[in-house]
Amino acid sequence: MKITFCGGAGAVTGANYLLDDGRDKILVDCGLKQGEAVFEKENWKPFFYNPAEIKAVFITHSHLDHIGLLPKLFRDGFRGKIFSTAPTKDFSELLLKDSQHILHEDAIKFKRPLLYDEKDIEGVMTLWEGGGYHQTIEFGKYKATYYNAGHILGSGSILMESNKVKTVFSGDLGNSPAPIIGVKEVMPEAHYALIESTYGNRFHEPQGQTKEILKKMILETVHGHGVLMIPAFAMERTQHLLFELQELINNHEIPRVPVFLDSPLAIKVTTVYERYSNYFDKGSQQMIQKGIKLFDFESLKKTLTTTESKEINSVSAPKIVIAGAGMSHAGRILHHELRYLPDPRSTLLIVGYQTEGSLGRAILDGEREVTIMNERIPVRCHVKAIGGYSAHADQRQLLEWMSPNSKKIRKVFVVQGEEGAPVLRQKIEEELGLEAVVPETNEEYDLI
Ligand SMILES: [Zn+2]
Repeated sequence: MKITFCGGAGAVTGANYLLDDGRDKILVDCGLKQGEAVFEKENWKPFFYNPAEIKAVFITHSHLDHIGLLPKLFRDGFRGKIFSTAPTKDFSELLLKDSQHILHEDAIKFKRPLLYDEKDIEGVMTLWEGGGYHQTIEFGKYKATYYNAGHILGSGSILMESNKVKTVFSGDLGNSPAPIIGVKEVMPEAHYALIESTYGNRFHEPQGQTKEILKKMILETVHGHGVLMIPAFAMERTQHLLFELQELINNHEIPRVPVFLDSPLAIKVTTVYERYSNYFDKGSQQMIQKGIKLFDFESLKKTLTTTESKEINSVSAPKIVIAGAGMSHAGRILHHELRYLPDPRSTLLIVGYQTEGSLGRAILDGEREVTIMNERIPVRCHVKAIGGYSAHADQRQLLEWMSPNSKKIRKVFVVQGEEGAPVLRQKIEEELGLEAVVPETNEEYDLI
């Protein structure tokens, strides 16, 4: 079997691996390249392979940097099968449609051709089959099995076998234990492994402190009669926040202030979460059996329409507003920031990574004045960040994922990382005694 690293080599985003067992060409992931403009431009380049020759795509999870180029693959001739877990399929449909909307606006703004359109997304969805963990999918001579990667709901590591050679694709690995999705499974036994390295050079803050910090901020905001703004990522981070808010309210640790979930995408994603409670960890399933709603409480209002969103303004402080986008680069959060960034009683709480050049990053870096919708706005509110909401494993967890079943490993490919990749590669060699490489883009290896 041959593997080619068509994306995700030396970069966190754009995961795309081509496998050829001599009979069928298949892919694992087909992700969008995200980040700097020069890098994003590569999404418009032709694929390294002929999409019409690809028989199947196995998807690890529904983040756009793993699924975002599927509609383009379809547009360029792919008509094979797509496999993933069932939640990944449903989340992907929502996220692809949402990204199409953003791409459409960007295409007009930057006068560039559309990467794909709605018809391509519809086409992709007709080819997609959702399954479960530990079920073996047979396709040609390939056998694929999904293991819980603990990263986002439905995320999987894939063990792929063909011609008696087993290769494991980590996908993105979670920061375990995470509420709701629980603990990731360790790497299954294999001959070759691809391991992600987003945080291959980092160590996270201890888990379990996020709820306490969140509680403290809410109490401060309530006492100061301010507004707590949380720019949130629609997927995972929002559900994690809702889950913790629900616990704080039900345990009477915070007063019942109005909470608004002001993101249509996050509202829809939460509905998919509720549909797949069989993927939740035991603790969450027990809570559901007791009649507890994990992502809902009396003082929560989900504002789907623009009119409902505008009505948030007429609700007096204190209040909590969770709105997208997570890096304040677009979305409804901008309307709230326009209004409350100048308010010294209010707080902006940052719960995720803020990329260089984003508005969220500028505020976090201490800019005292920013531009929102062509208006210069002073930043007088409190600005706080919580790091513990990361959905990625750190270096220690990455090594722990690999070590129990690494005896038969012949080579490790360290992928989906930038500064993290060479550091993790060295650690794998030193601590696990395995041969490890950081492959280059379009580099091919024999898996024998
Ligand atoms: Zn991911």
